[in-house]
Amino acid sequence: MIPTDLEGVDQRVSTGALPGWERVDELVQEAFDRHRADDSGAVADYIPILGAADPALFGLAVVDVTGGVHDVGDATHLFSIQSISKMFVYALAIQEHGHERVREIVGVNNTGLAFNSVMALELNAGHPMNPMVNAGAIATTALMPGATPAEKWERIREGLSAFAGRSLAMDGEVYRSEMLTNQRNQALGRLLASYGRLEGDSDDIVDVYTRQCALNVTAHDLAVMGATLADGGVNPVTGERVVSADVCRDTLAVVAASGLYERSGEWLFEIGIPAKSGVAGGIVAVAPGKGAAGAFSPRLDRAGNSVRSQLAIGHLSRALGLNLFASAPRVAVTTEGRA
Ligand code: GLN
Repeated sequence: MIPTDLEGVDQRVSTGALPGWERVDELVQEAFDRHRADDSGAVADYIPILGAADPALFGLAVVDVTGGVHDVGDATHLFSIQSISKMFVYALAIQEHGHERVREIVGVNNTGLAFNSVMALELNAGHPMNPMVNAGAIATTALMPGATPAEKWERIREGLSAFAGRSLAMDGEVYRSEMLTNQRNQALGRLLASYGRLEGDSDDIVDVYTRQCALNVTAHDLAVMGATLADGGVNPVTGERVVSADVCRDTLAVVAASGLYERSGEWLFEIGIPAKSGVAGGIVAVAPGKGAAGAFSPRLDRAGNSVRSQLAIGHLSRALGLNLFASAPRVAVTTEGRA
């Protein structure tokens, strides 16, 4: 654990601003046009129904913290949220139980292993290590309030709907298809239970987890959901407070460390903003204090991340100045230093 002593120290927030609406709109279109012809990668098919997705689909959306919206291409095409649900359910779990408890139970470190790794659990005495891979996400779903699996599921559906600013619905076909091939997630659930790290019936929890992954969203929805985390927990389109600003900070830190699975370090190095991907082809990327981008394109790279979504968001991060690690001198400098 990292030693900290922050009692009584105020959280200061230092952020810049996006360029004006028209410039953002142009850049979103530019990022889309530049990558629309890319056809590298392959559609996921380990969940059979996902293999039927049209690989030509490509949508991109940016929503800023003032509620400004920029949608291009198939930005309103519905697809299943899949792993991107993990970050929003995690936010709801921290809102419910607090920073400390969720950190202890689920953990915040990258496993360095694939999203469905069993090894990651075994190597760490059943501790899931982080909520952005399946084991940790199943443990997080178990933390959701509700006396029955149906109640937990409804809390998740309502919570994610508040992030999106509209009532989200599950894609029954995707849910049933994944349930037929869900042995690995069920195994992870049972392994967590065998280590005493899961309360309740593990198959019931995995069922709820599978439902949350089958919620239908659009690239536009992802941008609104991400923009809520960029705006201290208030949905910039509906004005509703969904989670606290502290929850947003905690969630985005974990997403930065592990949102793109074993490629998370490379992603931070190249693109520099927290982002989360899902196997149906969605990615959401969040620029705290500024806004968020949502992208959708079904062809994935080998780590399971949408190729065109990564390219388009990378473009926007650079062109809109979203990289958290980039800075420029505050005052003009000569080669000698400050003028
Ligand atoms: N529902 C998928 C699974 O559990 C989610 C994985 C993902 O999007 N990477 O396998």
